[in-house]
Amino acid sequence: MTTFHPHEIQFALETTRQAVNLVQMIQKELVGEALTKEDRSPVTVADFAAQAYVGYRLSQVYPEDKLIAEEDSARLKNDPATLERVTHFIQRQVELAAPEKVTSWIDHNRVDGGDRFWTLDPIDGTKGFLRGDQYAIALALVVNGQVVLGVLGCPHLNLAAKPSLNSGALFYAARDYGAWAIDLQMSQTARRLKTSGRTDPAQARILRSLESGHTNTGQIDEFATLMNTQAEPVRMDSQAKYAVLASGGAEILLRLLSPNQPNYREKIWDQAAGSIVLVEAGGQISDLDGKPLDFTSGRSLHNNRGILATNSQLHPAALAALRQVGA
Ligand code: AMP
Ligand code: MG
Repeated sequence: MTTFHPHEIQFALETTRQAVNLVQMIQKELVGEALTKEDRSPVTVADFAAQAYVGYRLSQVYPEDKLIAEEDSARLKNDPATLERVTHFIQRQVELAAPEKVTSWIDHNRVDGGDRFWTLDPIDGTKGFLRGDQYAIALALVVNGQVVLGVLGCPHLNLAAKPSLNSGALFYAARDYGAWAIDLQMSQTARRLKTSGRTDPAQARILRSLESGHTNTGQIDEFATLMNTQAEPVRMDSQAKYAVLASGGAEILLRLLSPNQPNYREKIWDQAAGSIVLVEAGGQISDLDGKPLDFTSGRSLHNNRGILATNSQLHPAALAALRQVGA
């Protein structure tokens, strides 16, 4: 059985926490001015900065470890002005940062698979980031095809049940260790996460993407009708959805295939951290056919179609309904 070492979860937590600090700083300084111009540059700077920071930390702490992350430095190398801005932000946390170092950290031990690798989404939910809404930094460790630990940094996720966590939180889990949430300063006691106990499909709260192009809106409506769910689906960007599900704030998360991209395969960095947080909180995750997620097929989940994640009790009913709507 593949397991994790306590220093790895400490590393992942501390790294994600610092990456969150960095992107919050970037958001504060850059997003306001850009929004009016529909300019995506703040999220570009934040994306590269967060990935460079994680690559830097890996190079210091686990120099042999591999990384599968969303970005690479090619575009940045052709855009010196943006590279300069990214470097300037990283220097606030890593004094020795210089443009060549930043690009090398972004590409740190880049691989497309293997027995042991970290996987990172530096900014998941880029639209949410620009809107000042939900986004997440997602870091996970995959060993022998199994996610062994994951951290979701969710700077804007309020946990209503615990007002002291209202300025965002880190959600984290490791195999057989449970799922936990702690404030972004890591100053309080972590609290254990548990999925909702609701078993009645009529009571199920459904989480889905805000982007219609990332799902199949028509099938979600049919699904909700079939399940006789009374609540409106909750639309939210990013893997923050998994944190809500793991905390008992919803029962079902759907990633259906968009009719425009029926062959889309989920990226591993979009699912790895969220999936272990959910499973360790008592939830269940599969693809739309009920198959377990296969993290051995490179950068994408080539052997899976879409995602169904639930509090576990509602999984069989949800799978049956998905079959009926032809998802
Ligand atoms: P969400 O915030 O739930 O809309 O998910 C954001 C993630 O969706 C991004 O990080 C993308 O990697 C991923 N994505 C991009 N295109 C698609 C697509 N056609 N179907 C599903 N997910 C997609
Ligand atoms: Mg993403």
